[in-house]
Amino acid sequence: MYRRFPLLFLLVLTLSFYNCNQSFAQSSIQNAPLATTENKVKALLAKMTLQDKVGEMTQLSIDMLSVGEPYNLAKPHQLDEAKLKHVLVDLRVGSILNVVGYEYERDHWHKIIPRIQEIATKEKPTGIPILYGIDAIHGTNYTAGATLFPQQLGLAATWNPELVTQLGEVTAYETRASGIPWVFSPVLDLGRDPRWPRFWEGFGEDPMLAGIMGAALVDGYQGDDIANKYRVAACLKHFLGYSITLSGKDRSPAWVPERQLKEFVIPPFKAAMDAGAVTVMINSGEINGIPVHCNPKILKDLLRNEMGFKGIALTDWEDIKYLVSRHRVAKDHKEAIKMAINAGIDMSMVPMDLEFPVLLKELVEEGKVPMSRIDEAVTRILTVKFELGLFEQSVHSQKDYPGFAGPKHQALAYKGAVESITLLKNEKGLLPLSKNKRVLVTGPTANSLNVLNGGWSHTWQGDDPKYNTPGKLTIVEAIRKELGEGNVQYVEGSKYDKEVDIKAAVNVARSVDVAIICIGENTYTEKPGDLDDLNLPASQVKLVQEIAATGKPIILVMAQGRPRVVSAIDTLAQAALMLYLPGNEGAPALADILVGDANPSGKLPFTYPRFANTLVPYYHKGTDMVKKDFSMNAFEPQWEFGHGLSYTTYEYSNLKINSDRISTKGDLEVSVTVKNTGQRKGMEVVHLFVSDKVATITPPVKRLRGFDKVTLAPNETKVVTFKINARDLSFVGTDNKWMVEPGDFEVSVGGMKVPFVIK
Ligand code: BGC
Repeated sequence: MYRRFPLLFLLVLTLSFYNCNQSFAQSSIQNAPLATTENKVKALLAKMTLQDKVGEMTQLSIDMLSVGEPYNLAKPHQLDEAKLKHVLVDLRVGSILNVVGYEYERDHWHKIIPRIQEIATKEKPTGIPILYGIDAIHGTNYTAGATLFPQQLGLAATWNPELVTQLGEVTAYETRASGIPWVFSPVLDLGRDPRWPRFWEGFGEDPMLAGIMGAALVDGYQGDDIANKYRVAACLKHFLGYSITLSGKDRSPAWVPERQLKEFVIPPFKAAMDAGAVTVMINSGEINGIPVHCNPKILKDLLRNEMGFKGIALTDWEDIKYLVSRHRVAKDHKEAIKMAINAGIDMSMVPMDLEFPVLLKELVEEGKVPMSRIDEAVTRILTVKFELGLFEQSVHSQKDYPGFAGPKHQALAYKGAVESITLLKNEKGLLPLSKNKRVLVTGPTANSLNVLNGGWSHTWQGDDPKYNTPGKLTIVEAIRKELGEGNVQYVEGSKYDKEVDIKAAVNVARSVDVAIICIGENTYTEKPGDLDDLNLPASQVKLVQEIAATGKPIILVMAQGRPRVVSAIDTLAQAALMLYLPGNEGAPALADILVGDANPSGKLPFTYPRFANTLVPYYHKGTDMVKKDFSMNAFEPQWEFGHGLSYTTYEYSNLKINSDRISTKGDLEVSVTVKNTGQRKGMEVVHLFVSDKVATITPPVKRLRGFDKVTLAPNETKVVTFKINARDLSFVGTDNKWMVEPGDFEVSVGGMKVPFVIK
């Protein structure tokens, strides 16, 4: 590599008459014939100054390059040429993120990103292109008109990883179509505490499901080659333990024993890393008293040495500064930078001031941060930039993306929504409704597109209707389309937590056949979504109670990012549907399900709690089951993990295992027959659980060890087979190491159980 340097240097000189800066990184590197990415990175790194390197480790918000003051920019958005040059050329900043608060048209993206890249590659001394990152959380949600899918929690409810991969591909396509090569997604934080305001951003409570879905999404984003102009780099969030807080509040302390970390929190990240994810974002919170951003045990020993992750570790928003102002483990910004970088952070999402590269440079010059740490971080950053093909072509023409938000992408968004919606209750076959029914549609989520999309939709909180995608329907609009204007009456009834006109809703309820009451939540994410009470707000409860007093049948439609407790009203409704946050196609998907044009197949990816103080996952322990009367019935959720009904019925039979004894390394084959015994075609999710009957570490009552989704026509039968290895049944033992412990186990599928032994 070093011997090739003079040749590269000559090439640089030859080309420099055309553009000196461009040649520094681009021409020399590209013209090295047999250069591997590793060699290209080494060659480039060898020529970089300290200033170049600390600049590469800096990520700023687009605010810092724009006309106006950060957080208060001029509208419409415009780049500020002087700031652009200072940030990119003088400070050598290597990464930019985000929008300035609201989505941009694709044309605008195609003005600003090429300009940023032009300055970076032509005027910055290194000529290294910018790594632009964006929160593309459920589609390319910061580009006007892009396809918006269900949020991750809904995707988990589809139990369809292939579909999740396809949705990831669409997001990659539409994000690259906006000139951006890096998405801050997926979220792998376990959804174990429904109070947590980012519950809906994850794949639910089960580590296996979250890992499979996370890997599927990474696969969709990255494919085999992130240089492909239809792929993007993924960013796994938020490493590690972000959702396991004690208080259920955003960015509050977590106390997680090593065993729990290993058994539940790490596996989804590991699965997504094994799928090839090239970047991770670090948890803003603390675990066991130490902020993750300055914890080398997590950032080095675990992430690098144990998990073998080779990509970029990026901070979350302003988190180095928060080591001073919130966590109070550093006395000033400079000390915080020293702690975080020495602990293993590669890139700082600063993102709103210019101090970071200046102070980091000083720290290296003072010998407080070793050059080897800087080189390691910059190597990782450059590697991703090369792998993304940014040096060859950082932005592709809009013409290369004719499918942007086209019918194929919309159809996938609809499929995602229709497969996620979960029928929780359907007494006496109230659903599906015949199309001549007269209905009242009421409630705070009935006539808002925003509540169907949630946070990270056009804006951070997703709450500004001004940016909604034109032509997309709210629930009441979609129901009107199905049942006809004359059959549908709408009264708001209640806002999220304030009565509006409950009396009017009750009056209309008297004159119709059925009341469809759309309850749920406002839009939110992060801190603004912190909650004081998991119970559904009183005004919504009252709306349901007063309509129920009319005696008219009620269908509860729940559009919400987390399971708000509905035990005060669930018995008043004959049917209930969980929508999660189904995205722009959520309302048509719901309307099709309501009238039976689609058959629901979603299943809960979490335990729906009955009480606000009883929040245990399905993999709770035996002692969680002891009730006040000392019976073992304390686990009585509103609806169980994996629950979801269909308009057809399924019969399970013939649960078989190939052997009732396996070794500690052996495989077990499990098969079960599933038959569609109803009148409609349907999709059934088959769950396989295993219980460890006796174990050294108190065993959970059961764990999900496999699932499959099958499509069955009426009367059709399929045999579903699973293969599990004894290692899949291991747990973290007394020495905090994984172990397979011989003993008695039990497989359960579809209500049937079969025992087996590990010898
Ligand atoms: C969030 C991240 C997000 C980042 C960039 C943070 O506040 O926690 O999930 O990717 O902002 O917008």
